[in-house]
Amino acid sequence: MPNLDAKALRFMSTDEFRVLTATEMGMKNHELVPTPLIESIAGLKRGGTFKVIKLLAKNKLIKHESKPYDGYRLTAKGYDYLALKSLAKRGTLQSLGIQIGVGKESDIFTVVTEEGEEVCLKLHRLGRTCFRQIKNKRDYIRSDQHASWLYLSRLSALKEYAFMKALYNHGFPVPRPIDVNRHCVVMSLGSGYQLNSIQQLRHPALVFDALMEQICRLASFGLIHCDFNEFNLLVNDEEQVTIIDFPQMVSTEHINAEYYFNRDVECIRTFFKRRFGFEAAKVPKLFVDTERCEVELDEELRASGWDKAASEDFTKLVALTEEVGGGEAKGDDDEEEEESDASDGPEEEEEEEEGEQEGEEEEGGEEEEREEEGGLQTE
Ligand code: ADP
Ligand code: MG
Repeated sequence: MPNLDAKALRFMSTDEFRVLTATEMGMKNHELVPTPLIESIAGLKRGGTFKVIKLLAKNKLIKHESKPYDGYRLTAKGYDYLALKSLAKRGTLQSLGIQIGVGKESDIFTVVTEEGEEVCLKLHRLGRTCFRQIKNKRDYIRSDQHASWLYLSRLSALKEYAFMKALYNHGFPVPRPIDVNRHCVVMSLGSGYQLNSIQQLRHPALVFDALMEQICRLASFGLIHCDFNEFNLLVNDEEQVTIIDFPQMVSTEHINAEYYFNRDVECIRTFFKRRFGFEAAKVPKLFVDTERCEVELDEELRASGWDKAASEDFTKLVALTEEVGGGEAKGDDDEEEEESDASDGPEEEEEEEEGEQEGEEEEGGEEEEREEEGGLQTE
């Protein structure tokens, strides 16, 4: 299952881009965006929105549904398109590389930036299947924000970026955060291999101590990783560690902070025992072996856009998805579903022609928050 369709990202006419953007905007407060709403947001000068809608549906960037009412929703592919296009516009992404990881709730690729640096792109994919099961479809988390996988995935990416940035600035061994857009985070490639794939360490005790030190240092900044395990740690040939994967971090003021802290510690302790036969004589305890430093990260997090409202929405959305049975079910996404539903519209004779008009997008989108969009340069 290709999780990112690079080919589909190449060509898009101005009109298609406007209509796709309009659908995304409509989804802020609609589960499905009715055609007249897409038409009015897109505001195509010479009309013809419906034809463009059909074309986007044919290319699986949006999908028609008739329940609970008639309308279109953005697909994961459509959302990928919008994010990658924005990142390409600002030079963060010039070409796509290969997939290097499939996380629990993400797809990880290498990409090359305009400066020629090979970096890492993480696409957050949370709750796509869950939100369709949520009974109360009118569930709004704020007056104007519809609870959706788009919003959850965007918040997850933003949280990861904001924390990575703050941690990086304080000298933690984390990837260098480069950019964030929608559900995508761009960061430097961590050096080395996932700890899980390493069979032998020259200095297991030193690596273990270094990991405990990082857990304690995080706590001294008021943070618990909450998923500190062999899959979220990279170790290089010098046996230096890079910590990745931050969307689930919690504060040491969390009611279950001690539980989470101990769980992180225990994960590493049991892994080192099982894999390297190393048994720790002593492991750290929260508040006993961690001293809170003066630094408050709140301001830094806010500077990246991670504020109280975002944090509250994220907590609510995660809880909502857990209610209906956990996070993303990989492989059960809308791309596959769409395969069997390719009859979204009549064949478009002008498809090829429209595809050639790439790079004219500047005139699209009247809203200020869209002005970043532009020509995709992934070829
Ligand atoms: P998830 O939240 O889905 O678990 P992760 O951030 O843990 O996603 O990424 C999944 C996998 O992709 C990781 O286990 C790792 O192997 C790889 N990966 C993620 N980020 C990087 C990075 N910055 N550098 C190198 N590999 C990475
Ligand atoms: Mg992970």
